[in-house]
Amino acid sequence: MKGNFSKYIIIGAGLSGLTSAYKLFNKGETSFTVLESRDRIGGRIVTRDRIDYGATWFQTHHEEVIALLNELGVEKYHQYNKGKSILVYSTMAPEHYFENDPDTPSAYRIKGNSQALIHALAKTVSDKIKTETKVLSIHETENGMQVATDNGVFFGEKVIVTIPPKIATRISFSPELPVEVGAVMDKTHTWMSNAIKVGLTFKEPFWRNNDFSGMIIGQVGAVTELYDHNDAENEHYALMGFVNEGLRDTSAENRKQRILGYLSQYLGTEILDYLSYEEKDWSQDWHTSCENIKSIYMSPSYGNPVFNRNYMNGKLRFSGAETSPVHGGYMDGAIYSGIQTVEKL
Ligand SMILES: Cc1cc2nc3c(=O)[nH]c(=O)nc-3n(C[C@H](O)[C@H](O)[C@H](O)COP(=O)(O)OP(=O)(O)OC[C@H]3O[C@@H](n4cnc5c(N)ncnc54)[C@H](O)[C@@H]3O)c2cc1C
Repeated sequence: MKGNFSKYIIIGAGLSGLTSAYKLFNKGETSFTVLESRDRIGGRIVTRDRIDYGATWFQTHHEEVIALLNELGVEKYHQYNKGKSILVYSTMAPEHYFENDPDTPSAYRIKGNSQALIHALAKTVSDKIKTETKVLSIHETENGMQVATDNGVFFGEKVIVTIPPKIATRISFSPELPVEVGAVMDKTHTWMSNAIKVGLTFKEPFWRNNDFSGMIIGQVGAVTELYDHNDAENEHYALMGFVNEGLRDTSAENRKQRILGYLSQYLGTEILDYLSYEEKDWSQDWHTSCENIKSIYMSPSYGNPVFNRNYMNGKLRFSGAETSPVHGGYMDGAIYSGIQTVEKL
C-alpha cells in the first residue's frame, strides 16, 4: 500500500488538475499523485503539428490565464486578423467581406501553442503524473480514500476530481454522492465536447499574400469558423476552424471533400495544396464525451454550488472548468477552480 499512497490524489491531468498540482508543489507539498486516463496530459488542450485542436484563445478579462502565463513565463500574442474577412450568412445571398477594426484588439493565443501552458505547468510535477490510468471507483475508508483504476489501486487522504462532471458520473462513488449532486453532474454539458475542429498546414500563407485574414464565419457551410493559425514567429503556416456539426455523421471522405470545396470557394484552390489535413471530433473522444450529440449547441450553466462543497467528510472535492463560477467552461475557469480547490482542501 505504501508505494501507492500520497496525501492528495488528483484525478485528471487537464489544465485544472495540473494547475492544482503546480500550486500544491509551489506550497512545498510533494505528496500527491495525478491520475490520467489518456496516454498524454493536457485533456481538452492538445496541439498537434502546431495546431490547437482544443482550447486556443483567451481575452483580457481572462485574468487567471494571463496571471498564470506571466507566472510561468509563457508569452502570448494576438490572433492575426488583418486583411479581408468573410461572412457567409445565407445560401442565397453573396458573401460579405469586412475588415476587422484595427483599434479593437483581437483575442490572444499562446506562443508555442496552447500546449506550452500545459508543458510549463507539468515541468516540475511530471514525475507525479500517471497516464493511462483510468479511475473506476472512489471509496471512502475509515482512514482515508481508496481510488481503484485499471492500473492499480491508489490510497490518499484527499481526492480532487477534475474530470468533467458529466463523465465523472461513470465513476462509482462509495458511499454514494447525494442524489442531487449526481443529477447536476449528469446535466452539466461538457463545454465544447460537441465541437469538431479541422486544421490544415501550408508551405505558404497564401491567404495573407492575397490580403485575406483567413477568417471565414458563417453557419450555412461546411466550416462555421475558420482562422489563421500561423505560429507566433510566423514561420509555420496553418488554418484552423470549426466544422459544421451537420457533417458529423457523413463519411470522413465526404466531409473532407465538402470542407475543401467550401474553403476553396472563398480562399481559392490554393487551399488544396495543403501539407497536412486533420480533423478532431471531440464527441467521439471517450475521455471528454459520453453523449451521442445531435444538437448543435446546448446553453450550459456552469459553477453549480454543489461543486463548491466538500464530500466524504471533507476528503473529496470537485474541480475543473465546468465547476467554476468564474468563466465556467473556459481555460480561465479551469485555472480558477484548480487554484480554489487547493486553497479549500
Ligand atoms: C474544441 C475545443 C475548443 C476550445 N476552445 C477554447 C478556447 O478557445 N478558449 C478557452 O478558454 N477554452 C476553450 N476550450 C475549453 C478548454 O479546453 C477547457 O476549459 C479546459 O481545457 C478544461 O480543463 P479541465 O482540466 O477542467 O478539463 P479537461 O481538460 O477535460 O481535463 C480532464 C482530464 O480528465 C481525464 N479523465 C477523464 N476521465 C478520466 C478517468 N476516468 N480517470 C482518469 N482521468 C480521466 C481526461 O482525459 C482529461 O485529461 C475548448 C475546448 C475544446 C474541446
